[in-house]
Amino acid sequence: MQHPFNNQVALITGAGSGIGRQFAFELAGQGAVIAAVDLRAEPLENLLTELKARNYAGGWEIADVTDRIALQAAVTSLTRRLGPIELLIANAGIGLENPAVPFRAEDFGKQIQVNLQGVANSIEAVLPGMVERRRGQLVAISSVGAYRGLPLMAGYCAAKAGVVALMDSLRVELRRYNVYCTTICPSFVRTPMTERMARMVKGRLPGVLEVDDAVRRMVRAISKRKPFYAFPWLSWLQMALMRALPTRIGDWIVGKLARRMLRDG
Ligand code: NAD
Repeated sequence: MQHPFNNQVALITGAGSGIGRQFAFELAGQGAVIAAVDLRAEPLENLLTELKARNYAGGWEIADVTDRIALQAAVTSLTRRLGPIELLIANAGIGLENPAVPFRAEDFGKQIQVNLQGVANSIEAVLPGMVERRRGQLVAISSVGAYRGLPLMAGYCAAKAGVVALMDSLRVELRRYNVYCTTICPSFVRTPMTERMARMVKGRLPGVLEVDDAVRRMVRAISKRKPFYAFPWLSWLQMALMRALPTRIGDWIVGKLARRMLRDG
């Protein structure tokens, strides 16, 4: 059977944990060669050991997505060893508590740097090759939190909204180069990040999906080259409605939901 990602080299940022790690297994299972990037060697070594044990192909490099030069060097090295990158999964991300009081612009900025500028840096590292070959797909992992700012998540939501806008801009321009863009907005997925978030807000996160289920859905959307995919649909609908409602009503609903989440923890 011909797999949709057969022999495509897929660069995954933040591949050492959670969604990125699961993407590596799911895409490798569908024929992709995995080019894994993360901040530390140990999780990447473990990932590649497990991939190789299943006869999957790949390689890894350490790079911080906020460091354009280091990221470019990592991509050059992976390309030399594995071949040109045809699929980017810009997934690396962080979530910090970012309350209004006390408001810390530094924490806001850190999230913009990793979750938004990091996506732009990852795109810059792979896009020239894709444009030259007239072939490729850019995937960015945003969040349903992109639809409107949520309590304690100012930096995270602002960065994820930025990712949606960034991809909207590129998608239209890149079609004539045969480079596809896919923006993905998941709701809560069970990963080390959501475990940390639940501890941070001392609360319970609603409707959490298992990571294998969530990644399977995302890979299906990517294989269909969907321009935009938000899921599960009910979370997407709630957030989209909140955006469409008058602001006062949206604020009242978000306030109520946040209080209930924190109380139920
Ligand atoms: P995670 O914390 O389990 O994994 C994130 C990975 O990114 C880690 O391996 C981390 O080392 C890496 N990373 C962080 N900063 C980096 C940097 N500067 N350079 C390179 N790598 C870096 O988190 P996750 O839940 O798997 O999240 C993955 C992505 O999915 C993030 O962008 C997150 O915002 C997004 N997302 C997650 C959820 C969820 O509920 N888990 C929901 C919506 C969107």
